[in-house]
Amino acid sequence: MAGIETLFTHAKLADGSRKDIGVSGGRIVAIEPAGTIPTGSRTVDITGSLLVPAFVEGHIHLDTSFYGDKWIPHKACTNGFDVHERVAFQAQNMAQAAPMDERARKQLELCVANGSLRMRSHVMVDGSVGLKSLETILTIREEYRDIIDIQLVAFPQNGILKSPGTPELLNEAIALGADLVGGLDPASFDRDLQGHLDVVFGVAEKHGVGVDIHLHDFGSLGAFTVEEICARTAALGMQGKVAISHAYGLGDLDPDAARRIGAKIAKAGVSIMTNAPGDHVFPPVALLRSEGVTVFSGSDNIRDSWWPYGDGDMLSRAMMIGYRSGFYTDDDLTAAFDVVTIAGAKALGLEGYGIALGAKADFVTLVAEHVPEAVVAVPKPRRVFKEGRLVAENGAVVR
Ligand SMILES: [Zn+2]
Repeated sequence: MAGIETLFTHAKLADGSRKDIGVSGGRIVAIEPAGTIPTGSRTVDITGSLLVPAFVEGHIHLDTSFYGDKWIPHKACTNGFDVHERVAFQAQNMAQAAPMDERARKQLELCVANGSLRMRSHVMVDGSVGLKSLETILTIREEYRDIIDIQLVAFPQNGILKSPGTPELLNEAIALGADLVGGLDPASFDRDLQGHLDVVFGVAEKHGVGVDIHLHDFGSLGAFTVEEICARTAALGMQGKVAISHAYGLGDLDPDAARRIGAKIAKAGVSIMTNAPGDHVFPPVALLRSEGVTVFSGSDNIRDSWWPYGDGDMLSRAMMIGYRSGFYTDDDLTAAFDVVTIAGAKALGLEGYGIALGAKADFVTLVAEHVPEAVVAVPKPRRVFKEGRLVAENGAVVR
């Protein structure tokens, strides 16, 4: 077949078929039964491994992780989980951490080595750090642009109304290169749900960018905030461009109430991000998916001031989502895998994603019988290809 630069042979696809995959110009140009495409100039033998789309790391914090730095012991909140207190601990920790660019590189390489080639990172933009963190992470994004595609969210970690100058900084952050505007617990942190959302959606509308809001609030306050975000999204015609990260409150609802709000979320085209955190309720993944909601995932914090866990592996994240959701059947396990792949791509609005003709040749090889087994076994030997080029193997980025 003409025009194939690299031929990937003996790949096993998610449907169990054995295929050879032709790649040219970084895109998939042929998917044919094994052995039926004449060998191109360069051949890469997949040796029967499962070949899946590269993972979507949909929520991470490149600026605040200590991964690869010295161990910084976790400090517990004095009276139960408190976002204000955690933000204060974070400020103390950041003052003693290694330079941000060094830490961000280590975290990125961890993610790429595990097979994530598309990422959304929140980066602090507020009165406490100004645009400094964003400037650093923008430089790192440029440095790594050949091996990973990164969206950046301007994230007001210290609130918007409570942190002087933050509305202006969020505008400047978008002008500087951030792709989305973030938010943080509009009601419980800033104590002004509508005032907070006025700024977030105002910046988004002005610049034509998407929104991704951290929402930790539980119970009816969390659910109410979700509804308000959905209403604004629909009113501004921003379906498909808005995400709510965590949305713990959705995990507090009885099934009927969850279904009702799930239908609203789906109609508004708002995506929900969960990392299936270990110590509290989280959104009902299967129920929301059945209502048509795009549920995606991310590592969120990796060894930072919020918790000491995290391995930058979206396949093990799929396992955790499945574990905590009580997913046992093959269909359930496949759904958990979808959350870290196709649903992630949809939530991030990614072009050219998947194992399909015309898609970017961004894929990962897994030693597993099929997707459900991969989700429970989390096999570590992987090869990671970005636009048909090997970018990582044996747990390390290849230079
Ligand atoms: Zn986060």
